[in-house]
Amino acid sequence: MSFQEAESVNGNVRQLVDRFGREHTSLRVSVTDACNIRCRYCMPETVSGFLPQHRLLRFESIARVVRVLVNAGVKKVRLTGGEPLMRPNLSELVKRLSGISGLRQIAMTTNGMLLADQIAGLVQAGLTHINLSLDTLREPAFHEISRREGLNRVLEGIEAAVSSPLNVRINALLLRDVNLEDCLPLIHYARKLGVVIRFIEFMPLDANRAWNHSQVVSGLEVRRMVEAEFGPLMASTSSDASQPSRDYFFPDGVGGIGFISPVSEPFCSTCNRLRLTADGKFRNCLFGREEWDLKGLIEPADGLVECSEEDIFGLAKACVDKKYAAHGISESGFQPPERAMYQIGG
Ligand code: SAM
Ligand code: SF4
Repeated sequence: MSFQEAESVNGNVRQLVDRFGREHTSLRVSVTDACNIRCRYCMPETVSGFLPQHRLLRFESIARVVRVLVNAGVKKVRLTGGEPLMRPNLSELVKRLSGISGLRQIAMTTNGMLLADQIAGLVQAGLTHINLSLDTLREPAFHEISRREGLNRVLEGIEAAVSSPLNVRINALLLRDVNLEDCLPLIHYARKLGVVIRFIEFMPLDANRAWNHSQVVSGLEVRRMVEAEFGPLMASTSSDASQPSRDYFFPDGVGGIGFISPVSEPFCSTCNRLRLTADGKFRNCLFGREEWDLKGLIEPADGLVECSEEDIFGLAKACVDKKYAAHGISESGFQPPERAMYQIGG
């Protein structure tokens, strides 16, 4: 696509606005599909292999695409995976991103196991926000969910984050038959730290394809349990409508709680997210079945022809233009995407 063609799409000059008027201001970049644990709602128990180094999008390419997309309206980048801290020298990427003017947030989602050792470098490099995933405070349940040991390392990571200048949140996922009982203890823990906790509904993105409605604990169900314990929650008026989380305060003002309910209350109409997989494919939705190959464009195998900024923008725009109105999880005939969560980037 030429620069002129890109300019004329939807009449939006170099903006990532789709057919439904949704402006894409948030980019999720997966930096690896590798992980040090094996959460049952995400990965298979055994993995035949992760992407080799040469198939990962290089840091210089990631920084280049982010620079182009910031010029097209992207304001926030979230690094994810797989486990992003498994990618060697991640702080080098953060440093490159922090040099991009106009980029307001550099965030990361992590399981926290490697965080205590890396946090100083990440903060120094310019990371601003961190989401830590924590589903239980019980080691046996941690093992049952993640098929690995190491809850203590996760808790050390959370403590390191809370003591750092980063904006910290905890993300929890409840599976009805596994860790429903952890809901209230997790909230007490987060409130003790003064950190916002958010509950994410289980989505059909597990590698085992074992997702079942009966295992999903809806945001409403969690909210009822929370209100029975703490009293009525007060909606946060400062919530950004494009954010997937509906945020609330506790009656005593300590901590905060959010509900991300893509299954029971889809938020597709305000979705502002574009995704880039670790192997360099643009995706317009977690549940999308189509991908747009950026790596082939930006790092051509023959290395002879360098693509232009207009080419990069054009590819991102082509991806955004094909985005559907909604993910359709609850529609009959819904098929989950071929790739599981850890391969897409959560
Ligand atoms: N490894 C990092 C972590 O766990 O935080 C980052 C990647 S992980 C895929 C990002 C988030 O996706 C985690 O908070 C995890 O709980 C969530 N997740 C994984 N599989 C999911 C699923 N099937 N449904 C809903 N959330 C899921
Ligand atoms: Fe790894 Fe995160 Fe998936 Fe758990 S949710 S297996 S930590 S990528």
